[in-house]
Amino acid sequence: MSDEVEIPESHPRYHSLLTRHRIEAGVEKGITSQQGLIAQGRGEAFDYLLGEETISSADRAARAAAAALLRADQPVLSVNGNVAALVPDETIALAEAVDADIEVNLFNRTEERIERIVNHLRAHGAGEVKGLTADARIPGIDHERAKVDADGIYSADVVVVPLEDGDRAEALGEMDKTEIVIDLNPLSRSSQVASIPIIDNVVRAVPNITAHARELSTDSREELERIVDEFDVEEALTAAERVIRSSPPSE
Ligand code: ATP
Repeated sequence: MSDEVEIPESHPRYHSLLTRHRIEAGVEKGITSQQGLIAQGRGEAFDYLLGEETISSADRAARAAAAALLRADQPVLSVNGNVAALVPDETIALAEAVDADIEVNLFNRTEERIERIVNHLRAHGAGEVKGLTADARIPGIDHERAKVDADGIYSADVVVVPLEDGDRAEALGEMDKTEIVIDLNPLSRSSQVASIPIIDNVVRAVPNITAHARELSTDSREELERIVDEFDVEEALTAAERVIRSSPPSE
């Protein structure tokens, strides 16, 4: 992360404060919704209990996610207002590492906010960003929330949906895609319906998937398949819940 605010790095809550500042700035710029602030608060509480670090089961999930993305035919990274505010550069780096498309996909969808996010990502160096065409619908959810690009999320075989709303995560899961969810709450519906739930903060998880993807980039398709097949969803969810329920916070 860059140091665009004046928070001393020695501050015990440095990363947490920086993350909070980025969300606030996202709201000011009109890329993050007001509900995004609430989602951030909920996420922070879980992150506090996880010790604000990537637990080993989340690291294994990030590795499985990297393998799934590398062996995908059409991977797409979904970006919402929180992701755009928190990890624009890291999302672009991941898209490059696994040759994925980026699609802006909002729960509280307005054309204006989508355009702002597309422009924000382009200012950070993204090439094509999908999301404005919205010429297909995810079956099973109401009209506005169902809109996606036909040649993007709709036809993707692997999608990364960080901080996704539970309804849409469920509907996407029913479309027979490999759904990679990044969410700090192992009990959220999004985490529960994911093919690969990564119970971690997006600010750590996205660069971690990229690092794994770089390391796995020369592996054979069979080896990538093996890594994905060996990933245990239940173990990932219960390990995170165990940490949250049992360990004292790290400070
Ligand atoms: P459900 O999936 O159970 O329907 P929800 O739609 O009620 O969940 P929201 O209130 O929309 O969930 O909250 C968004 C989710 O995003 C929460 O589960 C929260 O833990 C998670 N979250 C928020 N900030 C982050 C972050 N920085 N990294 C990862 N996850 C986050």
